[in-house]
Amino acid sequence: MFTMNASLENIKNGINELDQFNSTKGQGTTRILFTDVELEAREYIKDKMKMNGLTVEEDAIGNIFGVLEGQDPKLPPIWSGSHIDTVKHAGKFDGMAGVIAALEAQRMIKEAGMKHKRTIKSVVFTSEEPTRFGLCCLGSRALAGELQRKDLREICDEDEESLEQVLERLGYDLNAFHLIKKSNHDVYASVELHIEQGAVLEQLGKPIGIVDAIAGPSNITVTIEGVQEHAGSTPMPIRVDALTAASEIVLKVEALAKGSSSEHTVGTVGFMEVYPNASNAIPGKVTFTIDLRDSDMAVKEEVLQELLSSFKEIESKRQVSIHYVVDNHDQPMHCDNHINSMIEKICLRKSIDYNRMISGAYHDSIFVGKFAPISMIFVPSQGGLSHNPNEWTDFEDIKLGTEILAESLLTLANE
Ligand SMILES: [Zn+2]
Repeated sequence: MFTMNASLENIKNGINELDQFNSTKGQGTTRILFTDVELEAREYIKDKMKMNGLTVEEDAIGNIFGVLEGQDPKLPPIWSGSHIDTVKHAGKFDGMAGVIAALEAQRMIKEAGMKHKRTIKSVVFTSEEPTRFGLCCLGSRALAGELQRKDLREICDEDEESLEQVLERLGYDLNAFHLIKKSNHDVYASVELHIEQGAVLEQLGKPIGIVDAIAGPSNITVTIEGVQEHAGSTPMPIRVDALTAASEIVLKVEALAKGSSSEHTVGTVGFMEVYPNASNAIPGKVTFTIDLRDSDMAVKEEVLQELLSSFKEIESKRQVSIHYVVDNHDQPMHCDNHINSMIEKICLRKSIDYNRMISGAYHDSIFVGKFAPISMIFVPSQGGLSHNPNEWTDFEDIKLGTEILAESLLTLANE
């Protein structure tokens, strides 16, 4: 049994030092892909890996690996990691906790002189957040083969600079891009520690979550066209108001998610633009997004179909026209039962209370799971806050999660 403790100091310092690379100090943490602060944070992590005696590898999209070599380096390795990029004005734990935990777990295993057959790699996945290029999980997506060399030219940031241009400018070897993709059995297993980003653990008073599945998001962009007219002189019966039609859909999303047969269905309309957006004009056009998630694809499918068929009813009832694009309709990812029962046993042996749960948020593990067995360990988020400057997780909870992570990695590395 592995009893070595994680160092609270290392975890605290790692997260706080990483947080110095921040372009909005005093207003939360902002570290956007391949900006100066993000590049500095990458150097910080690589230096830390070297200081911990790891070999550093980096692939053609900037995924960073810290290699702790096992006794049999030919065996498929174990991975653990997360991301260091953020949304704008975020917190310092989302992603970073998982990277620092992986580095600390490797240090514990190395310093305790624990033997392991398989190599253990800590990983920093490039750009989990879609902040710069509008597409999430760039690094893990490429590892899964779902982002290819030819796509790089099409993916542009707000300044119309393509991912291809940025990577080339930074000296990444795009001729080696085809080497990024992993196949089944290239990686034996992967375990990511992450903050929960919800309040389930806090409400249950449990320090650890073991993730059974990561919900797959579906994103739909809807445009409704009505007739823009004077708010004073157009009688109610003849109005074709795009916003009241949109409102019906917003409520429909909520009702369908609440009434679905799965307790994990969530539906959100979080973005809306109203034209002309004037107090004295009947809205002639509304554009909004629908975010629908579930850990059960069949249920999500059902909800989506019901939602789309309601569009037709609303169209004929209100004389508006509704156009929509399903931007993505992703499968949920199920975590590996074998890894999860192993993590469960570790918790039981250490008398740590845990909760088996669903991740409503997506993570790099959703793509890693396409080529390797995965699991995730959650630690509590205070008040459930995330993507927020007030995001907080107690360092003691990260320490506990790191100890469970270290033991999980060591067990897997000896299988
Ligand atoms: Zn994250």
